Amino acid sequence: MAKKKILKKWSWERKSGWLRISKTEKKKIFDFSEDYKDFLSNNKTEREFVENALAHVKSKGFKDISRLKSIKKGDKLFYSYKNKALILAKVGSSPDFKLVAAHVDSPRLDLKPFPLTEDSDLAFFKSHYYGGIKKYHWMSRPLALHGVLLTKKNKVIKVSVGEKEGEPAFIISDLLPHLAYKQMDKKMSEVIQGETLQILIGNIPLSEDDKHSVKANVLKLLNEKYGIDEEDLAVGELEFVPADKPRDVGIDGSMIGGYGQDDRICAYTSLKALLDSKVGRRTNLALFVDKEEIGSVGNTSANSSFLLNFANMFARLYKAKETGFDLLFNSKGISADVTGAINPLFKDVHDSENASFLSRGVSIEKYGGNGGKYLTNDSSSEYFNEIRNVLNSAKVIWQTGELGKIDEGGGGTIAYILAKFGMDIIDVGPPMLGMHSPCEVVSKLDLFQTYKAYRAFYNEN
Ligand code: MN
Ligand code: MN
Repeated sequence: MAKKKILKKWSWERKSGWLRISKTEKKKIFDFSEDYKDFLSNNKTEREFVENALAHVKSKGFKDISRLKSIKKGDKLFYSYKNKALILAKVGSSPDFKLVAAHVDSPRLDLKPFPLTEDSDLAFFKSHYYGGIKKYHWMSRPLALHGVLLTKKNKVIKVSVGEKEGEPAFIISDLLPHLAYKQMDKKMSEVIQGETLQILIGNIPLSEDDKHSVKANVLKLLNEKYGIDEEDLAVGELEFVPADKPRDVGIDGSMIGGYGQDDRICAYTSLKALLDSKVGRRTNLALFVDKEEIGSVGNTSANSSFLLNFANMFARLYKAKETGFDLLFNSKGISADVTGAINPLFKDVHDSENASFLSRGVSIEKYGGNGGKYLTNDSSSEYFNEIRNVLNSAKVIWQTGELGKIDEGGGGTIAYILAKFGMDIIDVGPPMLGMHSPCEVVSKLDLFQTYKAYRAFYNEN
């Protein structure tokens, strides 16, 4: 056979997904993206996600598993944990699980316990960054303040400032270039130090006789608005996030730029896929965990026992022969997280034969980790094949790849953590540009393929 024929027949042609869809599908993809952008605007923290998702699923008939006496096929359940993690279930005719797991925390700037300071007539909130950031990204851009404050009488006050039109936003002010000659010679990791990430919070002094006068005025305003004092600031959980709304990107509007898409793009698509999935043999679970960005530690992370606790409760209420642990052991899983797309501006960190490309579909990654495949779930070939076949029969556009060149660095997902139960699991998620930046960019086509992939996984019983 001629070379051309052989290549056409047996090579794996990987081209843009936009060339592989019809006009109707293109319209579907663009329509699908509109809701997603609203979702991103309204869910900038793990707490907001859990609160909004709960309200949504309750309106769809989901019931709190911890209040039920028994469960049966067709039931829709939720289990929310500490306002930061959530499990949703659609009960099938068998108690065996199929689960898709995403994380709902994103890199951000958390407040320090004693945040309020004053210098040169300016009041600041000191922050301690959360997750892997490039610190200079957070300078000179509008930030919004989200989170909760608790009073001594246990009142929980929700905080959101900087999102609505007319509300003030917050800024970390960078050095002017005119006086930055020395700064410009520094290594990028040293230009902005963690301690430099102090957010401007006020400038009006309360009176002229006190050196903490601007701070005093900020405390007065905080007390008027929230009824809190400085000690309450230490107890609260306040996070600064980019104040911008997600936007279409490109003259063709093919991409979406916005904060927190790692990993709320997977949270959104898996939530929607679960809601749209049919009740079949296996019980479908959607798992939303916290603290992934700081190594999956803590009681709301994938490493916490709340999943096992849920499984035990489920087994008991279902009157299953198996224990909760058995159910997890026998599960089939998808770790729903994003991967890095090849960026032509920084091509040398990618192996372009083995990178994921924007708009070539959802990416199935057999493994992640660092050089030498350390600390990763290296999925079995058998399971990869099973997932590949599910996606192919549902006509999902998919690709595969690695994060970057072997010795350039690396990153992980929660796949290896859930794999400790013994379940089969593999990473499936969309590629993105500028991961962990305040404005991550994804393709609308990949967004839709990710949704289709999770839905196909759930529906294949
Ligand atoms: Mn992630
Ligand atoms: Mn991440």
